[in-house]
Amino acid sequence: MNLEVDLHIHSGLSPCADITMTPNNIINMARLKRLDAIAITDHNCTKNLRVAWEIAKSTDIILVPGVELTTKEEVHLVCLFDSIVKAEYFQKVLDRNISNIKNRIDVFGNQYIYDINDEIIGEYELMLMNATELSIENAVIEVKKLNGVIIPAHIDRSSFSILSNLGFISPELEINTVEISRNFNYNELKKDHPYLEKYKKITNSDAHILGDILERESFVEVEEKNISSILETLKRKEP
Ligand SMILES: [Zn+2]
Ligand SMILES: [Zn+2]
Repeated sequence: MNLEVDLHIHSGLSPCADITMTPNNIINMARLKRLDAIAITDHNCTKNLRVAWEIAKSTDIILVPGVELTTKEEVHLVCLFDSIVKAEYFQKVLDRNISNIKNRIDVFGNQYIYDINDEIIGEYELMLMNATELSIENAVIEVKKLNGVIIPAHIDRSSFSILSNLGFISPELEINTVEISRNFNYNELKKDHPYLEKYKKITNSDAHILGDILERESFVEVEEKNISSILETLKRKEP
């Protein structure tokens, strides 16, 4: 079966996200748009996932716990996990590797942490926009240890993407799915990177405002309607 997904959405924890990007608003918008599964993937932090997980439990939306990691090469990687516990374990990896610089709200914006009713209960203090100390190779190792999946984010973009910053995707990395922006001409990209043929392509919104969350326009083919099946598909090599 096909699940309609959007696996790259930012909550108000990401300093660049709109103030309306609260856990309840995101999940309600996903329901309005009749999606089956979404991932909340804030920059370098998982602190809104537990609440989003609790909210999603009472709906028919599958919430995939995730994070958008900035590696030390300044490459954005969407990392997805099959349980909230594993995502929270990955937070410990993030805590060890985040740069110890306080966020400047006046320049970068707020980094809100919410409760189950969308009340702001705190702000994450360290700046989430900076690169972490994790290299791409180590990120793959750490996420794999937790049975998660890594998807290089928006590979067509001219900044913070694996292609813009490294020039290519190393076949050594155990990566089988890449993210392509909406409305992007994949055939153009393929001219310079013919090996991309071997990768599964997924489109996500990278939404920072509610309206940008995808309609039913991007799907993952799964065996069963659950997180593990979604992750298995994204891990699998293209035949
Ligand atoms: Zn990004
Ligand atoms: Zn993003």
